[in-house]
Amino acid sequence: MKPNETEISTLGEFGLIEKITQNFNSRNDSTIRGIGDDCAVIGQGELKTLITTDLLLEGIHFDLRYVPLKHLGYKAVVVNLSDVYAMNGTPRQVTVSLGISKRFTVEHIAELYEGVHIACEHYGVDLVGGDTSASVTGLLISVTAIGEAREDKIVYRSGAKDTDLICVSGDLGAAYMGLQLLERERQVSAEQQDADFEPDFAGKEYLIERQLKPEARRDVIEEIARLGITPTAMMDVSDGLSSELLHIAKQSKVGCRVYEDRIPIDYQTALMAEELNMNLVTAAMNGGEDYELLFTVPLAQHELVSQMKTARLIGRVTKPELGTCLVTRDDNEIPIRAQGWNAFE
Ligand code: ADP
Ligand code: MG
Repeated sequence: MKPNETEISTLGEFGLIEKITQNFNSRNDSTIRGIGDDCAVIGQGELKTLITTDLLLEGIHFDLRYVPLKHLGYKAVVVNLSDVYAMNGTPRQVTVSLGISKRFTVEHIAELYEGVHIACEHYGVDLVGGDTSASVTGLLISVTAIGEAREDKIVYRSGAKDTDLICVSGDLGAAYMGLQLLERERQVSAEQQDADFEPDFAGKEYLIERQLKPEARRDVIEEIARLGITPTAMMDVSDGLSSELLHIAKQSKVGCRVYEDRIPIDYQTALMAEELNMNLVTAAMNGGEDYELLFTVPLAQHELVSQMKTARLIGRVTKPELGTCLVTRDDNEIPIRAQGWNAFE
C-alpha cells in the first residue's frame, strides 16, 4: 500500500459504497430510487420494477465444509427475494451467475442448481438468465432478483415517522447461533480426524435450519396486506437488527426506542447462547442472516398490528434528538451501535 492510500476497512462496507457512488446522479425519469434501499425501483407507469443483487463468495460468505451445495443454491436465491419482499413487492424473476474453480464437478453444480430450482418453485419465480465462468479459486454465486410492486404500495427505509410503532417478524439470533454451532462441530471434527464423525445437533435443529435454509418472509407481506396494515418504512434483517434500525433511523431522520424484553428470541437460541457463554441480546441484535422483516407502522394501527401472527411490536419511533436506543429490562437506555456483519473487518 502506498502512503497516500487507504485500507478499505477504515471506511467499512457502507463507507466504501457511499464514497464510490457519491458522484452518480440519476439522469433517467424511469430511475425512481437508486442506491440505498433493499431494491432499486425503476420503470414508467404505475407498476414498478424492483431490482436487487447479492454476491456470495466461498470462504467469505459460506464454507462448503458444512454447507451442502443444495442448501447454498436455495439460500442464494432466498436472500435476494427477501430484499424484494422488504420493499413490499412480489419477486418474479432471478438471474444466477457462477464463478467455478477446477475443484467442482458437473455433479456439484447440478446439486447447487437443485437448490436454486426448489427456491424458484417455492417462491414462484422464474430463472431467466445468468452467466458462467471459471474462477481461479473457489465458488462464487451472484443472484439478481427482479420483482414488481404498485408504486403506491412500495415501502422504503425512509418513511418512518415520530410516534410510529416498530415491529419485527419471527425471531432473531438463531441463524447466528446456527453458524456458531456448525463452526464448533467443524472444529471438533477436524481435531478428531475421524472420517465417520457425526455432529450431534439434537435439540438444535431450528438453529441449523435457520442458518442453512433461511426463508424469505412472503407470509409477513401477505399478512400485512390482509390486515390492511400500511408500513411506513421497511427493510429485511440481514446484517443484524442493530444495523438495520440505524439504517431506518438515518434514512427516515428519526430516533427510536426498542425494548430488550420485546426482542423475539427462540428457546433454542437462548439455550445455545448460554452454552457458548454469549450475551443473548447482543447475539439477537447483531447476529445477522435472520432475513426477518423490520417495519414501522402508524400508531393508529396498533390494534391491527397486535393481531399479527408473524410479527410483533418491539418499540417505537421517536424524534431524532432522542437517538437510537435499546431500553434494557432495568430501564436503562443503551445507544444502539452497528456491530453487525462486515466483510471488510
Ligand atoms: P442489502 O443488505 O439490502 O443487500 P447492501 O447493504 O448490500 O444492501 O447495499 C446497500 C446499497 O448499496 C444498495 O442499494 C446496493 O444496491 C448498493 N450497492 C452496494 N454495492 C454497490 C456497488 N459496488 N456499486 C453501486 N451500488 C452498490
Ligand atoms: Mg436488505
